[in-house]
Formats: sequence, structure tokens, C-alpha cells
Amino acid sequence: MIAAFKQRFGPAPEVRVFRAPGRVNLIGEHTDYNLGFVLPVALELATYIAAAPSGDGKLRIYSEDRAEGREFDAASLGSLERSGHWTDYPVGVAQELVRAGIAVGGTNLLIRSTVPEGSGLSSSAALEVSSALALLGGRPIEKLELAKLCQRAERNFVGMPCGIMDQYISVFGRAHSAVEIDCRSLGHRLVTLPESVTFVAVNSMVKHALSGSAYHDRVRECAAAVTELQKAFPTVQSLRDATVEQLDAVSAQLDPVVAKRARHVITEDARVNGFVSASAAGDVAGMGRLMVESHRSLQHDYEVSCAELDLLVDAALQIEGVHGSRMTGGGFGGCTVTLVERSAAPAFATAIVQEYSRAMGITPRVYVCDPADGAGEVKKLETIPSAE
Ligand code: ADP
Ligand code: MG
Repeated sequence: MIAAFKQRFGPAPEVRVFRAPGRVNLIGEHTDYNLGFVLPVALELATYIAAAPSGDGKLRIYSEDRAEGREFDAASLGSLERSGHWTDYPVGVAQELVRAGIAVGGTNLLIRSTVPEGSGLSSSAALEVSSALALLGGRPIEKLELAKLCQRAERNFVGMPCGIMDQYISVFGRAHSAVEIDCRSLGHRLVTLPESVTFVAVNSMVKHALSGSAYHDRVRECAAAVTELQKAFPTVQSLRDATVEQLDAVSAQLDPVVAKRARHVITEDARVNGFVSASAAGDVAGMGRLMVESHRSLQHDYEVSCAELDLLVDAALQIEGVHGSRMTGGGFGGCTVTLVERSAAPAFATAIVQEYSRAMGITPRVYVCDPADGAGEVKKLETIPSAE
């Protein structure tokens, strides 16, 4: 990757490489922006950025995956506005660094990623976090500050009202562990998963155009539910604080659609806690059941699934060794995650590819989700994947 960098930008005395992983969320979907609980794992799939000072006051950003780049005056980063181009992600991060009082000088960035884009494995957070580290160029930053700064970039500059999960897990991920994040306190605990099972992500290879606007709608619907709940229960500051009984008590005042959305979020928080307990007890059947309940809730109450994801889940549940399956990520396409006996995972992969291809005429991609470490500088350059 260093050679590719020098080929593109010319000689540089010290090129450093930074990595930030994608993630798969095991359970706890659309709960992060409601300040509840999520349980993601960081993946081996990651975004790598090679970086060095440009020496001419320009910030140049080139993505090998897009075979395309742009350049900006580093001095004007503070006043740039969103353009709708993919460089909004790294430029947004640069702007948030400047706003936090951290100088960003002329820099050349070469991006290479193995996280599939727009598939619910969070290529966006992987790009943000790796951009932040590359622009810092080894200067220290507190981990939580890094995650929050990248979230602000996506919210303020890109214009996506996302929660903290994706950036948080990309920073705090840990090999061999899932990470249960409390999205209000912003604390976490590591969760060891039973060794006999593994998680497999299956990419539906579709992304419906609806996904962006629907996300905004759901954020608004959750806020509407909180406003109504608060009138009867003033301690409810977010859906994280509400119970199903409280929701039932105000249901006559709620728009039925808003009530369904709130029901998903409230029950999903409980499922995260149930899943962590089941995992600690080695109850893989219980973990699987909660994943299926999560999917049904996303399908019917939150209404962010789609035919392709439902098919992947229903097909997975027919395959030997599978304990549970659900859509993961924002929805309307992207990936499912399936809990399967470790020994049955290869046969599962073959079977699900066959079934989805037969039904949809699309070959899905399959990723084994062994938990990996969070973001940092890459010291062993031989671990960087080669360009496609
Ligand atoms: P997800 O985070 O689930 O992958 P998003 O829609 O949130 O999906 O983010 C995907 C967007 O992030 C892409 O459309 C692109 O703008 C940007 N992106 C991610 N990775 C790269 C990359 N390697 N090169 C260029 N742009 C990227
Ligand atoms: Mg994203």
C-alpha cells in the first residue's frame, strides 16, 4: 500500500497506515439513537488509509475502491459544505477536527477498504475513523472523543442523524469479544460468546433507495413517541427509559404507526439484555430465538426489512445447525447475521448461497464474523490486504 501511495502522490519520507474496522451488530437494531443498548462486534473487514503530509497545503483524498479522488485547500476545511460526494465523510471528519481545535495541515490520503459499501457493515464509520486517525497522523486522541467526533462528522456534515454505535465499535472493538454498548452512558462491557457457535453475515447485495429517508422518518417517529410518553411519565427522556406498560398506557393518544415504532425499540432493548444473559449461560437456542424475535419486530413493527432480507432469514432458519437469524444494520437491504454451529458454518454458507441465488437470481456474499480489534495504526504492513 506504501508503494501504491508513492506511485500516486510521489515520494514521501514517512508514510503511515491506519486501519478502522467495519462491524456486524448481533442484536439491538435502531436502539442506539434512542440511547439504548447494542451488541456489535468489530470485523477483520476494514478500511485502511495510507497518509503523509503533502507539504503544499492541499488535502488530497483518493479511494482505490472508487478509483477516484478530490483535493481541497486545508486552510478552508472549516468553511466547506457537504457536496453529496463520498469525500464528504473524510472532509466532515477533517472539519470536526478543526472545530475541536486540532490543526489539519496539507495531507495526502490513499484509501483501500475491504468493507462492502452500503451493506450494513458500516463502511461509513470505518472510513470516518480511519480518516480521523490518518489526519491526526499519530497525534494522540482519547478513544471516546474519537468516536464522538466521527459521529458528529456523519451527523453534521454528511447529514445522517446516526447513533453512536458504528463509530464506537470501530474504535473500541476487541478480538474474541462482542461489545455491549450503553448508548446513553457511553460505557461498554465485553461479552464473551459461546465457542461452539459462530456468526455469519450474508449480503443480500441490494440496497433500496428508501433507506435514507426512512431512517430520518424513524428518528422522527421515535421522537414523537417520547413527546407523548413524557406527558404521562415525565421521567421518560428517551425510549430507553420507557416500558411496554407505559407505552400501552398512552396508546390511545399515539398514532398507531408511532406506537409500533416505539414498541420495537422498547422490546429490542430488552432483547439485547436477554441475549447477553443467554450468551453467558451458553444458551445458544435462547440467543437464536431472540435474534428471530428481533427480526420479526424489525419486519412488522419497525418496518425496515425488505423481501430479500426476509427471504435470507427464512431460508437460514431451514438450514441445519442454525439457531437464529436477523437483518443487521439500518435495513432495506444489506446484510443478515446468522447464529450457526461452528462446525456447520461452511455447509450453511454453501446452502444459503444456493437458496438465495435460486430464489432471487443474485449471488450473495458471505462473511464469517470473527470479532477483531478496533482501530489503530498498522505496524505490520504485511497484514494490509492487496488491492483488488
Ligand atoms: P454502510 O455504512 O452500511 O456501508 P452507508 O450508506 O452508511 O453504508 O455508507 C456508505 C458510503 O460511505 C458510500 O456510499 C460512500 O459514500 C462511503 N464510503 C465507504 N467506504 C468507502 C470507500 N472505501 N471509498 C469511498 N467511499 C466510501
Ligand atoms: Mg453507515
